[in-house]
Amino acid sequence: MQRYNRLSDYLKKNFGKKLLKLSIDGGFSCPNRKNGNKGCKFCSQKGSGEFTNKLSSITEQMNLQKNFLKQKDTGAYIAYFQNYTNTYMPASKLKQMYYEAIKFENVKVLSIATRADCFNDEIYNLLEELSKKIEVWIELGLQSSNEKTRDNMNIGYDLKTFKLCVKKLKKLNIKLIFHIIFGLPNETIIDFKNTIDYVNELKPWGLKIHNLYIQNDCELYKDYLEKKFKLLDFNSYIDALIMAIENLDKDIVIHRITGDGDRNKLIYPTWSKNKIKVIGQVGKILKEKNSFQGKNFKNKIK
Ligand code: SF4
Repeated sequence: MQRYNRLSDYLKKNFGKKLLKLSIDGGFSCPNRKNGNKGCKFCSQKGSGEFTNKLSSITEQMNLQKNFLKQKDTGAYIAYFQNYTNTYMPASKLKQMYYEAIKFENVKVLSIATRADCFNDEIYNLLEELSKKIEVWIELGLQSSNEKTRDNMNIGYDLKTFKLCVKKLKKLNIKLIFHIIFGLPNETIIDFKNTIDYVNELKPWGLKIHNLYIQNDCELYKDYLEKKFKLLDFNSYIDALIMAIENLDKDIVIHRITGDGDRNKLIYPTWSKNKIKVIGQVGKILKEKNSFQGKNFKNKIK
């Protein structure tokens, strides 16, 4: 019995197999890193895309990734624009890059990670056009539904903007994924639960849950050294995941439940390097409790 709605099951059901993710660094930057702004405090110098290798062309990068991951190759791919803010360029330039990516052999999904304040009508139109040719996923970094936490983390825009963007994207034939983090400074399980409730309310197609990880190249590292906040240990993170799964709408596809940064730069938590342990422990507890995704979800009809 599958106890939560996993991406791998969705892919097998809809594409007949797992798809290999080919991460792309399109040479983007981020509006939150302009004019002396240092970006979100948890963001690494590579813009949260640790495994890309920027070369001259997108095709070249995809070939390189395919080669690098050849043991996992299934012959079908997700073109994943990962580093920084992947809608932060004029629509004409985006069009050129996105089309190059979807022309790569056997790409089934175009996946774009970005911020909710980096869209305009031209970009919405482009995404709509693309969604008629290929499955399009847009990943938005929510991180937390607590405005105070978002401000402290210097995310740089409010939930009103987030909600507005979600509303617009939902009108297009696009699959939305939210990215959230458990363990941000001063947050407790109550904040994590509130974030899950907020996710349920906006109901994206997919959700990525990360533990906070601190690399030595992010702003938060200084606060970590000064012991300015309490860190989430392994057991508390597992408890948070169980709570999240039990409270999450069962329709939402869970893309991930761990975060992995650059191992050479990772300071805390070292336990997150062992993804299998995290996933295994969650599966074990759900089984012991005979629990599953959505067990405690209550649909609030508005
Ligand atoms: S929006 Fe993304 S790329 Fe920009 S600073 Fe925040 S995490 Fe980094």
